[in-house]
Amino acid sequence: MSRNIHTGRKTRIIATLGPATQSPGMIERLLQAGVDVFRLNMSHGSHREHAESIRQIRRLASKMRIHAAIFCDLCGPKIRVGTLAGGAMELKARSVVVVTTRRVTGRDGVIPSQYGALHKDVKPGDRILLDDGKLELKVLSVKGRDIECRVIYGGVLTDRKGINLPDSRVSAPSLTDADRRDARFALEQAVDLLALSFVRSAEGILALKRYLRRHGGELPVIAKIEKPQALEAIDGILQEAHGIMIARGDLGIEIDPARLPMVQKELIDRARAACKPVIVATQMMESMIDSSRPTRAEVGDVSNAAMLGADAVMLSGETSVGRYPLQAVRYMNAILREAEQWRQRSPRCGDDLDMRVAESPRRALANAAMGIARDLRLLALLVPTRSGTTAMVVSAFRPSAPVIGVCPDARTARVLTLNWGVIPMQLKPAEIADWQRMSRIVARRLGLSLNDRSLAVLSGFGKSGQKDQPVLKILRF
Ligand code: PEP
Repeated sequence: MSRNIHTGRKTRIIATLGPATQSPGMIERLLQAGVDVFRLNMSHGSHREHAESIRQIRRLASKMRIHAAIFCDLCGPKIRVGTLAGGAMELKARSVVVVTTRRVTGRDGVIPSQYGALHKDVKPGDRILLDDGKLELKVLSVKGRDIECRVIYGGVLTDRKGINLPDSRVSAPSLTDADRRDARFALEQAVDLLALSFVRSAEGILALKRYLRRHGGELPVIAKIEKPQALEAIDGILQEAHGIMIARGDLGIEIDPARLPMVQKELIDRARAACKPVIVATQMMESMIDSSRPTRAEVGDVSNAAMLGADAVMLSGETSVGRYPLQAVRYMNAILREAEQWRQRSPRCGDDLDMRVAESPRRALANAAMGIARDLRLLALLVPTRSGTTAMVVSAFRPSAPVIGVCPDARTARVLTLNWGVIPMQLKPAEIADWQRMSRIVARRLGLSLNDRSLAVLSGFGKSGQKDQPVLKILRF
């Protein structure tokens, strides 16, 4: 519970679980190494395996007296190649092949698509990218269910590889049957959040929320930004989603990868301005799947994400199937701490983000609290929060003092482990209602001395319990 005030790290670490890390021993060591949030990728593994991972994470986090959020990552409308005879097919550059939505086994230059409307969505001139963009086709013509293509970049294609359509408007619904099954599983297992892949507009998020409500539940949804359409619709997506993930793997296929660093910076700023958490994901320490040390470029990438203001950075293959999952987390932890310390010291790296506080009393107070925390060298900013929103707002301003998200609900506490710099703490409503008492309990739990120190309490609801009447109070001890 008090881990982050001691480690001093504010940028959160997310680890994807997989065969390399599913055992209880590994989960415990990942938590010890600093993992804040676990991702269960629904593209892999069975519900039985994921249920066991959830059970172990809950048990071990409780034993270690820390909060750790769990989210299920739903596949969304990922388009894939179907089955190929012999499992593979060579595509020669400049040859002509046919991609088809007929239900056939692939052979002799005919490639089946698992997505049945592909022939309706593409037009001559569009690119069809296969296997993370390693192979590229250009559409020549569409005849019924057959799409005739020229091979631009050839290679060996294997079964079920991903298809990306950067030039086409994909009409597939945002939720598949598999997503619905996975969403129901996530509700049954009471995980903390969901992520949805291939979001194209706010409607995808709303459709998932409606589905959850119909099945008697509600979960915060993270929108994975990996389609050009999502960049166009980012304002609406940020309004409906709990937060966003910059899913650089698919995004770097769907847009020119040369644009990725600027898109990343822009998305981080947009999410922060909306007071929503933002995750930078994919290939952060990719070489550590096989190597015990990161490349210098990977160190730079993780450090840069922290300096640009991301809430969290995510490990995928590094922790799910890699040979050095613990080392990857430890390196990430060390890199983030260095970056944060430098950022705090360096005037050149001051935060230049316009947080537009004018129309929101809560934001205006969060902004004021940031200045007060710095000027009075406050011991901490205590944020009593029911849904977590006020703590999210305060976190988005990136204050120098530790932000303690004090909440009566365990799930809110876990969800807050995704937000930059928030130390979640669960207290009883009566303990939260009395701010002097709350301060003493928080200080005791965190091992802080209140003697001659000040802290501030920022409540979104105010003492009267009325919404939108936030209160900021400085308490001197
Ligand atoms: C990505 O594409 O970067 C991503 C995070 O999604 P997934 O790992 O599900 O492909």
